Amino acid sequence: MKVIINQSSNPVKADLRDERVKSPGFGKYYTDHMVVAEWDEKTGWSDAQLKAYGPLTLDPATMVFHYGQEIFEGMKAYIQPDGGISLFRPDANAKRFAKSAARIALPEMPVDFFVQTVEELVKADQNWVPKNVGESLYLRPFMIATEVGLGVRPSNKATYVLIATPAAAYFNAANAVTVWISTEYVRAAIGGTGEAKCGGNYAASLVAQKQAAEQGCDQVVWIDAKERKWIEEMGGMNLYFVKGKGKDAKIVTPKLTGTLLPGITRDSILSVAADLGYKTEEVMISMDDWRDGVKSGEISEIFACGTAAVVSAVGTAKSAQGTWVTGDGKPGPITDQIRATLLGIQHGTIADKHGWNKRVI
Ligand SMILES: *Cc1c(COP(=O)(O)O)cnc(C)c1O
Repeated sequence: MKVIINQSSNPVKADLRDERVKSPGFGKYYTDHMVVAEWDEKTGWSDAQLKAYGPLTLDPATMVFHYGQEIFEGMKAYIQPDGGISLFRPDANAKRFAKSAARIALPEMPVDFFVQTVEELVKADQNWVPKNVGESLYLRPFMIATEVGLGVRPSNKATYVLIATPAAAYFNAANAVTVWISTEYVRAAIGGTGEAKCGGNYAASLVAQKQAAEQGCDQVVWIDAKERKWIEEMGGMNLYFVKGKGKDAKIVTPKLTGTLLPGITRDSILSVAADLGYKTEEVMISMDDWRDGVKSGEISEIFACGTAAVVSAVGTAKSAQGTWVTGDGKPGPITDQIRATLLGIQHGTIADKHGWNKRVI
């Protein structure tokens, strides 16, 4: 399979594009192109088409509208010191996309084909990549079930689409987010789709997000479905807890039990923290551990991580059981250090010793 290039005949004018790239927001503007590839049970994957960004036309009986067979990825292209552009661990996104596909009974896309589509879109829309550290071109690959029919069965057709949007820093680095630990709603249960990056997980989470907002919180924290006490994730991000302070601090993250989404940022931070000399551990952390740890001061910092926001400090936690504040409620030094190190690697100003960056231009 290859990517066939059809340049847009009507790109956004350069001065308007540059204005948008200078203050991009998040998901506000889309680039000039997209990539589309079709899969059919009988013939497999078609070549992908890079073409002008625009609407999709679908029959109202298309399966995705009825049974929600959809998966997605989120990844970023970062400007480098010499003006080049790198993707961060695109092969990891490709592998997770294939795993998500398998769980939702969608076709697995070959890793090289997936990465190739991303590289071609970044090349075609390279002028849309913002220039400042912390900013990036956010790439959104997704796949939908496109067989027409209302029968409940795995679709025999699928469409892969890749779009891109210039992105500012997602959360304000100077602020810590306030979280609502939801004891009412569940994000994922054993045997469910918690490990897959599928739209359905998000659909099921939005009512809790609404409840968090009503409580004056920015994000929801999920606990496990069975015992209703183990901390899993925050919204669309994984969590980290810093125990102790300074050089002897230990950095721990909830263990992947099958219901957490295995974040690529989470995985990268396990290495980055160890490189910085911290002990790291994947553990089970309960709501009680969180409350007692911040009360005693043993937990000195908490942060969330994911591609969109990279690293975001967590200050106050609220739940039906009370309100707990970590440290002074502001981002801590280790959170800042890890964010700066990871961003430095992504932007090519800190040595990429794990070979994570894939140069596109
Ligand atoms: C995407 C996602 C994450 C973060 O994964 P990254 O690969 O680090 O971006 C965490 N939790 C959920 C539920 C997600 O969908």
